[in-house]
Amino acid sequence: MKIQSYDELKHSKYRLSLMLLLFLNIAVSLFCLAPMIGLAKSEMTLPVILVTLLSAALLALYLIKPKLKLPLLNPVAFILGALWAWHINYRYHLVFYFDGSFLIISLLSVFFISAIALSDYLLAFCLNITPPVLTVLLLDNGEHLALILLTIALPLIGFSLQHLMRRRTDHFTLRLMHQLYEEKENFSDLSMLDPLTGLYNRRGLKNRLDNILDNHAGSHYVLLLDIDHFKAYNDNYGHAMGDQALARVSIAIRDAVRSRDVVTRYGGEEFLVLMTNVNASIAMKLAERIRQYVVDLEIPHRFNERVSTHVTISAGIAPIYDNEFDQAVANADRALYVAKNQGRNTILAWEDLPKSNVISSSEAH
Ligand code: GH3
Ligand code: MG
Ligand code: MG
Repeated sequence: MKIQSYDELKHSKYRLSLMLLLFLNIAVSLFCLAPMIGLAKSEMTLPVILVTLLSAALLALYLIKPKLKLPLLNPVAFILGALWAWHINYRYHLVFYFDGSFLIISLLSVFFISAIALSDYLLAFCLNITPPVLTVLLLDNGEHLALILLTIALPLIGFSLQHLMRRRTDHFTLRLMHQLYEEKENFSDLSMLDPLTGLYNRRGLKNRLDNILDNHAGSHYVLLLDIDHFKAYNDNYGHAMGDQALARVSIAIRDAVRSRDVVTRYGGEEFLVLMTNVNASIAMKLAERIRQYVVDLEIPHRFNERVSTHVTISAGIAPIYDNEFDQAVANADRALYVAKNQGRNTILAWEDLPKSNVISSSEAH
């Protein structure tokens, strides 16, 4: 079984403790039921038979239905304890020649089962041992009081201390787990974002895309943007200035579109905007707004000479048909290519391309 959460882990521990309790009770009760060599009679009593039947039935239920989540530990521990108390009482009155050691041994055997199976569950432990302890104390009539009290006190003190320590450890584990989950979320956020621009990277886009294509039936557009002559910008102004320009262009793109549009850094100086629920004219308007916002940044770019004295972008735009995102990107890329050829600082819609370009849209350029 794959344990998915701390709660499931706790539940499986609970289940195992209960099954162990049942199993040990079956084992001890069968031992009592079997006629023993050297002893005249078996210790068969009604409560022992009931212990066997109850434990076997519950154990079978738990084995057949591993997903069963019932808070049975405390009541079962109490009922089994009461049945053993009944057994001790019955045997004590039946056989007169037992000395006090019968009571001590009976008590020890209950403690033994309880200690092994219920060491993590203090309440169940107490519920299990209380009926036999009271019975033994009453039957013994104070004859072996010190010994009996010691038998009771030692494990109780031990368990209380262990319980305290365990609670502190559990608390610590829980806190650690919450912290880990938080950090995991932070990391997965980070790995979906591009560190330079804070925009989605391809992974982030993929994540949003699956969601959008599955849940929004409207018409969506892909806008592919590329900064013009950016290699020349980098070569002449330096890489650090290039990074700054990229970051500023990213902000301009983000500002120009609607908050629901998904803006991605698709490659080095290439951006992809996924526009959801738009028609061709709104998509074109948004793209035009991006182009204008970038021009308005007025980032000096002397080597963009034939286009402008500032940094500019070119873009291709294409609708997504039948959830075919990759095809839409290829079409937008074709439009972008033509926009570059038409002199840059230009936006072209794939649908408006001359026929020859549309037909050859699957070619690489
Ligand atoms: P075009 O107008 O045809 O798009 O020409 P271009 O020079 O922009 O295109 P090209 O693909 O030749 O060059 C892209 C350049 O973008 C190359 C690289 O120096 C630059 N670049 C890509 N990623 C980064 C980055 O993270 N930081 C910086 N500073 N530059 C980058
Ligand atoms: Mg490029
Ligand atoms: Mg470029």
